[in-house]
Amino acid sequence: MKKVAIVGGGAAGLMAAVGVLEKEAVPVIFEKNRRLGLKLLITGKGRCNLTNDLEIPEFVENFPGNGTFLYSSLYNFSNHQLLDFFAELNVPTKMERGGRFFPESDKAGDVVGALTDYIVKKGAQIKYNTRVEQLWLEKGKLQGIKAGGNFYRFTSVIIAAGGLSYPKTGSTGDGYKLAREAGHTIVDPFPSLVPLKTKEKWVAQVQGLTLKNVQVTAFWHDKELGSEFGEMLFTHFGVSGPIILSLSRTIVQTLKTKGGPIKIRINLKPALDFAQLDARLQRVFSEFSKKQYKNTLDSLFPKSLIEPIILLSGIDPHKPAHQISKEERSRLANLIQSLELTIIGFSSYDEAIVTAGGVSVKEVDPSTMESKILKGLFFAGETLDIDGYTGGYNLQAAFSTGYLAGQSAGEYTGAHMHNI
Ligand SMILES: Cc1cc2nc3c(=O)[nH]c(=O)nc-3n(C[C@H](O)[C@H](O)[C@H](O)COP(=O)(O)OP(=O)(O)OC[C@H]3O[C@@H](n4cnc5c(N)ncnc54)[C@H](O)[C@@H]3O)c2cc1C
Repeated sequence: MKKVAIVGGGAAGLMAAVGVLEKEAVPVIFEKNRRLGLKLLITGKGRCNLTNDLEIPEFVENFPGNGTFLYSSLYNFSNHQLLDFFAELNVPTKMERGGRFFPESDKAGDVVGALTDYIVKKGAQIKYNTRVEQLWLEKGKLQGIKAGGNFYRFTSVIIAAGGLSYPKTGSTGDGYKLAREAGHTIVDPFPSLVPLKTKEKWVAQVQGLTLKNVQVTAFWHDKELGSEFGEMLFTHFGVSGPIILSLSRTIVQTLKTKGGPIKIRINLKPALDFAQLDARLQRVFSEFSKKQYKNTLDSLFPKSLIEPIILLSGIDPHKPAHQISKEERSRLANLIQSLELTIIGFSSYDEAIVTAGGVSVKEVDPSTMESKILKGLFFAGETLDIDGYTGGYNLQAAFSTGYLAGQSAGEYTGAHMHNI
């Protein structure tokens, strides 16, 4: 009987077991935690945004990290096949804003539970609390793995050990170490989808404030790095929220490779051009002409943002609105369209949703997930140098690469090996 070792029981490892079972081989999942899918349980704030409705070509565009590598695995096991699969497992799903799919129950636990029950019923073995320490190689050939001090012989091995993000869930970079043992190149990992730190301390004053429908553009010197429209959030040390997380990849990469300065400019009223905004300010100041400047801004900004805006505009807060000059009004309009923050850093892996970088995809066959360096070795999930934006892309990538790696590893006969 062919036996396949799966290193890691996260999204990719669990779905790899499904693929292995389909090929009538036996998957053995080695999971260092005492339960499976710890990270899966906290995805989508505990609701698990398991995939997205986009067609595959657009789906792939949502991976700033090596999306095209995913074509074969996504066509082999698409988002719609994933949803059908979960429907068969009695986990019906629903679509929300932005094509994001969640279990109807809003419980990530249902996804983990259904997957676990399915693979166990079909004959998968699970070794809990068992960390895979190294690959078992003899004369350059893969024999199996070493875990808990023991050597275990396997026909093939799938590394699905995740990246470095949220290390408390078990993803501590072991996949990279194992891949290195086989001779693989690791593209320098870095945290992505991560909150950013700003030089400006005033952000702490507005922490918790969410801004909707704003445009944020990032610059390295004068070069535009990217621009996103949507929702952002202030934290006690900087900025976060969906559009900041999306921009974080290019910002972190630039900070790491080229250094600063990196600025983000927030357009608080992107629907208005400068003239329209100026006209709006003019109307506000004439409506409240007798009020002091500091008391005229309620209709323009959320309450907590008013004080920082007043300070940054440099206009005397006690000045009556009718005395505000054209030049001062222009300065305020400019500030509203280009509220600037300096990015000086980013949060650690503890707060990064995904890890960019990882096992170089150049050394992995995208149509099988097999290593091009060591026969019988396969990769799946975030251990690979792939990373997507938020929206269900990362989990679908883990599921699709996991399933394909499982099928391929399950079919692999490893003629040179002794099967158990
Ligand atoms: C807070 C948060 C929310 C997220 N929300 C979403 C979302 O809603 N939608 C989405 O698409 N993506 C989301 N993601 C990203 C997504 O969870 C990951 O991309 C995905 O889980 C990666 O799956 P994986 O199986 O490759 O790795 P992981 O889920 O990290 O699983 C790896 C497993 O391997 C085990 N392991 C590691 N080393 C060893 C070893 N040596 N021996 C044995 N076991 C080992 C670990 O314990 C772990 O269980 C979120 C991430 C975070 C952190």
